[in-house]
Amino acid sequence: MGKVLWAAPAGFFAIVILSAALFAQRQESSPATASTPMLGFTAARAVSERKVETEFQAIPSTQKAREWHRTFTAEPHPAASERNNQLADLIADEWRKQGWEDVTLRRYEVLHSRPRSISLEMTAPVHYTASLREDPLEVDPDTKNPAVSGAYFGYSASGEVTAEVVYAHSGNPEDYDLLRKHGISVKGKIVMVRYSNPYSYRGFKALTAEREGAAALLIYSDPAEDGYARGKVFPDGPWGPESHIQRGAITYDYIVPGDPTTPGWASVPGARHIPPEEARSLPKIPALPLSWHDAKPLLENMNGSEAPKDWQGALPIKYRLTGGVAAHVKVDMDTSLQPYTVVEARIRGSELPDEWVLLGNHRDAWVFGGVDPSSGTASMMELTRAIGEMKERGIRPRRTLVVCSWDGEEYALTGSTEWGEQFAEDLKRKLVAYLNVDESVAGAAATAGPEGLSFSPAAVASLAPMLVQASKEVRAPSGKSLYEAWRATSKRDDKASAPPFDSGLVETRIGSGSDHTVFLNHLGRPVINLGFTGDYGVYHSMYDDHYWMENIGDPSFEYHVTLTRIWGLVALRLANSDVLPYDYGFYAMALHHFLTELELRNKVDPHKLKLKKLHERIGDFQKAGEELREAVGHGLDSGENRPEKEERLNQELLQVESNWLHPDGIPGRPWFQHLIYASRYTYAHMEYPGLTEAVEKGDWKLATEQAELVERAVAKNTELLRKAKASWEKNN
Ligand SMILES: [Zn+2]
Repeated sequence: MGKVLWAAPAGFFAIVILSAALFAQRQESSPATASTPMLGFTAARAVSERKVETEFQAIPSTQKAREWHRTFTAEPHPAASERNNQLADLIADEWRKQGWEDVTLRRYEVLHSRPRSISLEMTAPVHYTASLREDPLEVDPDTKNPAVSGAYFGYSASGEVTAEVVYAHSGNPEDYDLLRKHGISVKGKIVMVRYSNPYSYRGFKALTAEREGAAALLIYSDPAEDGYARGKVFPDGPWGPESHIQRGAITYDYIVPGDPTTPGWASVPGARHIPPEEARSLPKIPALPLSWHDAKPLLENMNGSEAPKDWQGALPIKYRLTGGVAAHVKVDMDTSLQPYTVVEARIRGSELPDEWVLLGNHRDAWVFGGVDPSSGTASMMELTRAIGEMKERGIRPRRTLVVCSWDGEEYALTGSTEWGEQFAEDLKRKLVAYLNVDESVAGAAATAGPEGLSFSPAAVASLAPMLVQASKEVRAPSGKSLYEAWRATSKRDDKASAPPFDSGLVETRIGSGSDHTVFLNHLGRPVINLGFTGDYGVYHSMYDDHYWMENIGDPSFEYHVTLTRIWGLVALRLANSDVLPYDYGFYAMALHHFLTELELRNKVDPHKLKLKKLHERIGDFQKAGEELREAVGHGLDSGENRPEKEERLNQELLQVESNWLHPDGIPGRPWFQHLIYASRYTYAHMEYPGLTEAVEKGDWKLATEQAELVERAVAKNTELLRKAKASWEKNN
């Protein structure tokens, strides 16, 4: 998963510009030079760090990345498959050979879901049997692999139904409102929806259909969104061909992720499991994904009223709301406990072994995983090879690096969630940051134009400035620095001017849909997600494979290696810095911006909800963050390196993100404990989740309570930063 969930919506930078005007930030757009101070480093340590980074960057190879990619995409490897378990062993072996320490396979017993028998037939007005398969292609022998699955959704309910078919556009609540206006009920019927327009997570479409009383749900890929209407289709281009199917899970993991039968605790062998009927994250509706090849006969045979203009897709037919089409759907799923394996390894830190920088990528794929996730896996294996080789040469990070290959991400972010729940207490104290890469290259260099693919990272705001600084040290495939390439593609993609200050390049609004979720939303640790994006229409289909990557996505594998370099550089800076490079002044700017956005979007009436005090508290936090940044800068510039003093400060800095957690969680979703960051049911980002949901419901009493919780957390962190600054300056 991951592709669409991090994308900055159009207009994002416009709002950032507004924030920048309100909360002026110094310009910082000059390229790095050897004399540029490195965030969190004394001048002396910055010199040795640059040597380490240069040595690290020289190791990753495009040829090796290509070989890793071929290995990981050779066979389908969904969670709980034999192949995926073999790959776990392969990764463990390779990490041992590369010099990584404490290589461990962590086993979880998880409620898993796979298809026994799936079928769809149109029964009226004419008969049609859906193929539910993707067509093999001569040029790409992988597409003939008999192990490729047909169409199914992870955690679909089992069921069998014959009923009338209704077209409900994107399957979002407003679409059903429109059907009601036309006098059309979906109760007991089969609802057919398309994937995007606007995008919402398929598990949200399933819950919405379930709430509307539909008997079954079909979700198809319209060529308007990821097919021929966008450009050339596979194998001639990056977009989805006629029979491509977007598989996926429909778990309600926006309520609670991980094994649905162990909500909030780890599925270690012997753990208690609740009965599946009691699991809040399991759908109760049978559902199926469809290619447009299989969807078209159902749509074109309808004879009822014409659907509105914005409901029309790119097929050469008139899209109608319903009328005269009936179908028989059968979904029979095998739901049983299966072993999932997380592979874990570390390189113990030479000086601060109890502070961890965690890197991770999921291993399981719906089919071959060309982009999702094996592009990320190839980048990760080159990263671990490089870091391992450095260790063999005697260059060890100061803090401990931990790397994990997650399992079952595609089902419910399961492996990372169970692992995070298992080691919660350690992680809350020790984890400096989690650096996630799901898809390292989710775009086609072949169609990206001269500026290349877009670098589209997202980060908790405290880490945005250091990420920008690190990007100045890496070369992009276009030949520019990654930083310059990033600015250029940001400008191109937003069709507007580049953001007025560099940290605005980073998307600081973070939704769900990948393995960062447990670390940020449940454990209160800062996260970064890295990847390149561009044209990509074969998400979760069989065609997302090695051929796609080698011929269309990243034929030179340079983007894979560029991603390895920036990922490793960020990890090394976090692992080696004197003072952890969190910028709370910038974090506060993001908090202001999120709050202003909430007020504007909901036209909050200041008589009903008073947010002035929260703005003031954030202002105090910003001042404290900026003053601390300055004090730390002076202290580091003075060149003195006093380990005990730095360590006391680091321990205080580590505490800030944890202070955003509230033990009760957000109303109705106790697992999501972060007061600033959560996701909507659609997976879209949502800031101040408890406050936002209360405002959107017009529940002003609850909104006031939620605003007070945030105020208290902000005040606590302001106090923490002030104390940290005072004790930092005391011994200067
Ligand atoms: Zn993924």
